[in-house]
Amino acid sequence: MYAKVIVDISNDAVDRVFDYVALDDTKVGMRVRVPFAGRIVLGYVIGLSEHTDFDKNKIKPIIKNLESVPKLKPEILQLCLFLAKHFFLRLSDCIKLALPSCVRLDSQREMLEYNLTPLIDIDTAINMIGKRAKNQLALVATLNEQGSLSYQKAIELFGRTSVNTLVEKGIILKIANRKNRFHYSNTTTVQKNILTQSQFEAVDAIQNNNKTFLLQGVTGSGKTEVYMTIIENCIKENKTAIMLVPEISLTPQMMDRFNSRFPNEVAVLHSGLSEGERFDEWERIFSGKAHVVLGARSAIFAPLENLGVIIIDEEHDSSYVSESNPRFVTHDVAEFRARYNSCPLVLGSATPSIESFHKAKLGQYQLVKLPERINGLEMPKIEIIDMLAEVMDGNTSPFSKKLLAKLDDCINRGKQAILFINRRGYASFVMCRECGYRAKCDDCEVSLVYHKEDNELKCHFCGKRYRMLTNCPNCNSPDIKYGALGTERVVNELKTIYKDIPIYRMDNDTTRKKDGHKKILSEFSNHTPSILVGTQMIAKGHDYPNVSFVGILDADVSLYNSDYKSNERTFQLVTQVAGRAGRKTNDGYVVLQTYAPKHYVYRYAVNYNYDGFYDKEINLRQTTGFPPFSKILRILITSISDNRAREVTKKIFDKANELKLKYGKSIIFLQAMPSPVKRIQTKYRYQILTRFVPDDKITADFYNIADLVEKDVTIFVEVNPNNLR
Ligand code: ADP
Ligand code: ZN
Ligand code: ZN
Repeated sequence: MYAKVIVDISNDAVDRVFDYVALDDTKVGMRVRVPFAGRIVLGYVIGLSEHTDFDKNKIKPIIKNLESVPKLKPEILQLCLFLAKHFFLRLSDCIKLALPSCVRLDSQREMLEYNLTPLIDIDTAINMIGKRAKNQLALVATLNEQGSLSYQKAIELFGRTSVNTLVEKGIILKIANRKNRFHYSNTTTVQKNILTQSQFEAVDAIQNNNKTFLLQGVTGSGKTEVYMTIIENCIKENKTAIMLVPEISLTPQMMDRFNSRFPNEVAVLHSGLSEGERFDEWERIFSGKAHVVLGARSAIFAPLENLGVIIIDEEHDSSYVSESNPRFVTHDVAEFRARYNSCPLVLGSATPSIESFHKAKLGQYQLVKLPERINGLEMPKIEIIDMLAEVMDGNTSPFSKKLLAKLDDCINRGKQAILFINRRGYASFVMCRECGYRAKCDDCEVSLVYHKEDNELKCHFCGKRYRMLTNCPNCNSPDIKYGALGTERVVNELKTIYKDIPIYRMDNDTTRKKDGHKKILSEFSNHTPSILVGTQMIAKGHDYPNVSFVGILDADVSLYNSDYKSNERTFQLVTQVAGRAGRKTNDGYVVLQTYAPKHYVYRYAVNYNYDGFYDKEINLRQTTGFPPFSKILRILITSISDNRAREVTKKIFDKANELKLKYGKSIIFLQAMPSPVKRIQTKYRYQILTRFVPDDKITADFYNIADLVEKDVTIFVEVNPNNLR
């Protein structure tokens, strides 16, 4: 029997199937070790056959099967094959999506936690290793004193070499400590609600229906309750469920709701897990112990069998499309799995993406609505404040008079407020008033952001840090100007107004540590009155009953992000952030500050008029030829060498022009240019941007011409990119 094997090497030259002689119990989906080009490498069996096209005498046998139960289940293997084809990916890269590295690489080091225990006393140790190995002796002494120590801790304290030397010599013992590390402590019991009529109808429409649904429900309309009811019914029928949320809405609150409703059934997958935790959660799913998976994008690959429903909450969120290689669109993956399992796929949102709503209009998705908030609560009133008028009026602070008055009123009533600003740090740039010098990153073509707390300038693209300027490095002037304000500065200014009230900040800087989110949110929910300042991570999923005021400080940040989705994204953001107010009482109020008060995005947003916004936007897309009426495709070419990047860009662009000749008017737009950010992490960036009438052949042709192996150059293709930079 011959095994068809994909080797775990990311290289286009080996992106094909190799034949090996199968071992007795080799099965499809297994990880194996195979000889390959003088090495022994990891491989995956994707098929078995009596037949081979190669010279039988030259085919080598598999060296070892790495498991007895294949890690790639049949559905997941099919999914990988589909992905490779559909998104023009290497099969080995698709398998990497399906098997997290801790599972794939069997990296014992990562999988297990180890403890060290002593085997001999300190005197015997001195005899064996002598007096000079101070670190080693100190470790033996500590172990004799304490009985045991974690391997990681020992390395931190005494150095890796000392620890490993002692283990090798058998002076101390390294014991694997394989326990279930994911200790989810459920702090609250969340009650189960009796469904409202509209919720009931939504559940009824969706359940057991092998279709894709678009569940459009305003914020606080009880979508999550609908999801949980459907999942509960699945479990009763011995089926399983996947529920995806954007990374940032995977809040402790959401986990509490799920764990309390489905005790011991839920596995959680997100980027905050340690390798070991991820491995344990994956095993619980793989072995059938957990029937519900709650997670971010990558959880769509969870190896559940017999799926009864797949839910994508906040389906419009950009995190559902990966921004780097291997790039895939979660909706398409979910669609594949839903059809494979003949189960419903539910896309939920208060503000569906224009594309999804368009599909609903075309009848490809079935639209289900939850038009009202629970208990007939009103949507909070949104008031637009013209910031230009404020400035003319002499108010140059970041807060309008109205915002301050409403904030004050909220705090005086003992309630909570959320202030949203989609920029972290203190100031978006620093600049010399005398000569115009602007601090930039050495490695990226972007301005540095001032972080006052650390008194540093930071590059938000590569993370590099620089000392803050006291004088201009160019003309030595001390007159430094600060750019647009960020979360840090908002908190600083608020602290001068509210000295006795807790003010919390939630952004990428304050949530970097493990459980960072959780801590800030639990503090916030336990203190009334209080204020939470944050970036878009405060926009989603939170359900805090005491929040009555929401201030949107600078809504225009996303509006002028010059890409075709900026209107859509701004509408979504405003609606989501506003939706945090007045979720349990009728006193929600929102102030939206902008320099473009008449913009149609805001006009529709303040009235929660999604349909109106959709009509306007879809018309615009149609007349200008943007998605869903076209496909945008970008070929990004990057290299440390500016010249090489240009050369390759030119080479591909020449071929692109041939395609333009071939397809004529179907190609609406085609241009080569430097990327909006010309350099990131020392790499020069060029792009070929094209827009064409949706057509699989044209897409394939563009992927094809970009499929080059060029020394020192990286080529990356994206369809309908979320972020052009
Ligand atoms: P969404 O996901 O649409 O924002 P949620 O499901 O979070 O809405 O519901 C909003 C709030 O209303 C939550 O506090 C939830 O517990 C509550 N809720 C949902 N459904 C019901 C119901 N049928 N009866 C009473 N309260 C409900
Ligand atoms: Zn200067
Ligand atoms: Zn940088």
